[in-house]
Amino acid sequence: MFDDELDELTRKHLRRQLKTVNSATAPTITIDGKPVIQLASNNYLGLANHPAVKEAAIQTIQHYGVGSGASRLISGTQTPHHGLETALAQFKMTEAALTFGAGYSANTGIIPTLVGSQDLILADRLCHASLIDGCRISQATLRVFHHNDTKHLKQLLEKRSGAEKTLIITEGIFSMDGDIAPLPEIATLTSEFQATLLVDDAHGTGIMGEHGRGIVEHFEIDPNVLIQMGTLSKALGTIGGYVVGSHSLIDYLINTCRSFIYTTAPPPSMAAAAQAAINIIQSDPGRRARLWQNRDQLYQGLKTMGFQLTNTQSPILPIILSDPQLAVSMSAKLLEHGVYVPAIRPPTVPKGTSRLRLTITSEHTPEHIETALHAFRQVYKLISPTT
Ligand SMILES: *Cc1c(COP(=O)(O)O)cnc(C)c1O
Repeated sequence: MFDDELDELTRKHLRRQLKTVNSATAPTITIDGKPVIQLASNNYLGLANHPAVKEAAIQTIQHYGVGSGASRLISGTQTPHHGLETALAQFKMTEAALTFGAGYSANTGIIPTLVGSQDLILADRLCHASLIDGCRISQATLRVFHHNDTKHLKQLLEKRSGAEKTLIITEGIFSMDGDIAPLPEIATLTSEFQATLLVDDAHGTGIMGEHGRGIVEHFEIDPNVLIQMGTLSKALGTIGGYVVGSHSLIDYLINTCRSFIYTTAPPPSMAAAAQAAINIIQSDPGRRARLWQNRDQLYQGLKTMGFQLTNTQSPILPIILSDPQLAVSMSAKLLEHGVYVPAIRPPTVPKGTSRLRLTITSEHTPEHIETALHAFRQVYKLISPTT
């Protein structure tokens, strides 16, 4: 019964398959028995493999066990959950924080608590699927503004009529393009039009700003003028989502947010591990420095070779290839040359913008990057047959 649909995906070069690997987070991994350099994970600071993060999880399992028993409101809130939320609020310089099982469930839960069927959402066209799903669940009217286009956003704000509340949604660093939202301008429009601003800082947390606090620190924006959400699963190397903001926001979410209330609490071990990760981000800025050095080395190398990158300003380096088949064959060729880079296709990205999406971490060495660039040089002829 699903075979026709699957065949159709295959025919369009959009069929996806799971690849089993021996590690998804180390800078080098083994695929089909062969060692390869991994440029696919969002473990930007290597914290998924950091001894102190692992130790925090292990110790907490020894003490609390593995699962968490029930929803946070029933039996599930344990000391590590509280400790993590205190640390997150301090790190993000907000009054309070709330954690979720995943960034995905944070987004699908928060948005419907902020707006409803009488309200309006204005979201950047490239917002993550979890944000879009949250918008749909809310039943608010959803209008999309052109990517990072504050003029268009302003036009939509001027045109709105009768909507009770307006929620503006953007990402800090866009997950598939690596570019950055013009957050100061968006924040100004937010206050000018008395809207609410939700920023998804999934990719900025831990790596942006002088202390790694994220996109809001990068732009030196007052954290009190917006709501931030993010994930513990990227630079923080663990699992879970979070929201930070005022005491009253967090209190309201605890009382109304369905994806917080009607789900079992995340394991206490993961809360403790994430708290350890936040400590490392604050005490070891060298990781962030290495990440950005590596990012610049890889970015410059690819640029010099002639690859067409997005307007990225982050460790996410997308090479636009347009055609999904080409993206898949480039990815396969790179694997033959010892580099694992995933092909990203619709519906994850808009039609006609299939791409290779490279991510680099602080744990790659300059030699890894040289080896990877060598492989890219070998496959460049696939997109440029005349050279
Ligand atoms: C990864 C991601 C999420 C989802 O976070 P998870 O913790 O992986 O569920 C949400 N928003 C953006 C922009 C992301 O990149």
